[in-house]
Amino acid sequence: MLRYYSWTIGCQMNKAESQRIAGYLDAAGYQAAASFSDADLVVLNTCVVRQSAENKVLGTLGLLKGLKNEHPNLRILVTGCLVNSNTQELKRRFPHVNLLFKPGDYPELVAWGQKQGILFEQGSLRGPFPALKTSTHYNDAGMTSSPCVYIPIIQGCDNFCSYCIVPYRRGREVSRPVEEIVYEVKGLARRGIKEITLLGQNVDSYGHDLPGHPDLADLLNELNGIDDLARIRFLTNHPKDINLKLIDTVASLNKVCKHLELPVQAGDDDILKTMRRGYNVKRYRELVHTIRRKVPQISLSTDIIVGFPGETEEQFEKSLSLVKDMKFDVVHVAAYSPRPGTLAWREYQDNIPASVKKDRLNKIEELQAAVASDINLQLQGKEVEILVEGRKNVKWFGRTQSNKLVFFEDAGDWLGQLARIQIEKTSPWSLGGKVKK
Ligand code: SAM
Ligand code: SF4
Repeated sequence: MLRYYSWTIGCQMNKAESQRIAGYLDAAGYQAAASFSDADLVVLNTCVVRQSAENKVLGTLGLLKGLKNEHPNLRILVTGCLVNSNTQELKRRFPHVNLLFKPGDYPELVAWGQKQGILFEQGSLRGPFPALKTSTHYNDAGMTSSPCVYIPIIQGCDNFCSYCIVPYRRGREVSRPVEEIVYEVKGLARRGIKEITLLGQNVDSYGHDLPGHPDLADLLNELNGIDDLARIRFLTNHPKDINLKLIDTVASLNKVCKHLELPVQAGDDDILKTMRRGYNVKRYRELVHTIRRKVPQISLSTDIIVGFPGETEEQFEKSLSLVKDMKFDVVHVAAYSPRPGTLAWREYQDNIPASVKKDRLNKIEELQAAVASDINLQLQGKEVEILVEGRKNVKWFGRTQSNKLVFFEDAGDWLGQLARIQIEKTSPWSLGGKVKK
C-alpha cells in the first residue's frame, strides 16, 4: 500500500485544497502516512503571505531534499502560493520536486498522475473544483473525523491591496456555480457533514462573474434549505463590499452562524489609503454599528497589520483605539512583511524596525486579550450549544455558533453531535464546561 503525507500551512483555503488533494489520493488507493519519512508521496501546500511562512516552506523543502537523497523514489508535489507562473525558475531551484501546480489547478495534478500511472478520479463536477471526497471523514463504522468541511466558492482575488501577494499567486476571481455548490453540499450533508464554511478571499464578490449574477446571499438561501446540515459559515468579507442584503440574510437564516470575519487592517485613513483598501475608518465603524444593530448576537473577527511602511506612533495608536472600541471577539495581528512584486514592495520602503513592529504587535495582542477576556467572561454560568469537532487528549472540543472554542470531558462519543454545555471556565481564547444530558 502506497502512503502519502500532506503538509499544509497558511489560510483556510489551503486547508480546503489539501482536503481535496487528500480525497484524490485516497481515491487512487493511497493511505495517509504519519510522517514525511513514512511516505511514498508528499504534498506540500505552501503559503508565502509573509516572509516567516515562506521561510518555513523553504526549510521544509530543504528537509525533503535530504529525504529524497535517501529515498530516490519519493515523489514530492508542491502547490499553494509559492507556485507562481514562473514554474521553470522554481523547478531550477528545487530539482527534487516532481510536480509544481498552482493552487486549485487539479487538472494539472490529474494529468501528472496519469503520466505516472496514478489513477486519480476526475472530479464529477465541472470547473476547477472537483467534488470533495468524504472518505477522509468517514469509514463504514461512521464518522472518523471532524463533521466540518471547508468549501471554496470563489477562487482568486481582484483587489490588489498594496501589501498582498495573493492576487499574483491565485489569479483573478472565479466563482463556482450555485447549483454545483448546492449539489456538493447536499451530498456531504447526506453523509453526515454538519457544518460547512464557504471560502473565498473576498466572499462578497461571489457570483459577479456568473450568468445572472447570483450573490452570496442567494447562495446562503439555497444552502439553508438543505436537510441534515446544521450550520453554515463563510469567510472572508471585505468591508468595502459587504452589503445590507447579506447582513439581513445573516440575521434571518437560522443555519447561518452569527459570526463574521471583517478584516480592517489599520485604524488610520492615510494608511488604509496606501494599503488600497477602499474604505476609511468612519465607514468601517458605521458598518460594524449597522451589523450589530441588525444582528445583535454577532461575533466579529478582524485582521490588523502593524508596521506598514511609514506607520507613525500616532497612526498605530489609532489601530489600538479601534481595537479598544470595536470589541472584536478575535483579532489576528501580523507585522508587515514586504512581498516582492507587490505595489507596497515596489513603492514604499519597509522602514519600521522589526523591534518596533514586534512591540506594536504585542500591544495589540495584550489589549485584545483583555477585550476577549471580558467578552468571554459574560458567558460564565451560561449554557451554550456547540458542534463537537474532535477530541484532544481527554477533552472533547467544538465551537459555538459565534465561533467560541469550548472544551468538555465526557465518556460518551460526541463526535459530530450538537452538545449543550454549561460554561464553568473562561479565558480570552477558549471556554470550558460541563455537558448537559
Ligand atoms: N482577503 C482577506 C482580506 O482582505 O483581509 C485576507 C487574506 S490575507 C491572505 C490574510 C491576512 O494576511 C490579511 O488579512 C493580512 O492581515 C495579512 N497579510 C497579507 N499580506 C501581508 C503582508 N505583506 N504582511 C503582513 N500581513 C499580511
Ligand atoms: Fe489580499 Fe486584499 Fe485580496 Fe485580501 S482582499 S486577498 S488582503 S488583495
